[in-house]
Amino acid sequence: MLSLQQNRMNCPRCGSINYCKAGVLKGRQRYQCKDCVYHYTVEQKSDVKSREIRRLALEMYLEGLGFRSIGRILKISYGTVFQWVKSWGKNTELPERNGDVSIVELDEMHTYVSQKKLQMDMDYY
Ligand SMILES: [Zn+2]
Repeated sequence: MLSLQQNRMNCPRCGSINYCKAGVLKGRQRYQCKDCVYHYTVEQKSDVKSREIRRLALEMYLEGLGFRSIGRILKISYGTVFQWVKSWGKNTELPERNGDVSIVELDEMHTYVSQKKLQMDMDYY
């Protein structure tokens, strides 16, 4: 089972990372800040676009899953997945694992497409 929750939730009041779990409220994990004793929950919506989800989406993409499948599994729109995969080609914010490999694969794909296009242009003339 994939964990879709962020690992670190800074306290929204004082910014502290010293927190502990304080039960579940309306389906959301509730936390208590150890520094200022403030209670807070984590919005699931903001979790969806977390780095972890993006990394998972790219890994699934590299495993050969389609945008729609990835979207269904991660509960995000396939358009979002498509945008992410597209931006990974130029983005400097790369996933921690297999980062170099994914750059090479995307670059190779781009080169391949360019060559195809060049061949088509040459056939035309
Ligand atoms: Zn706090």
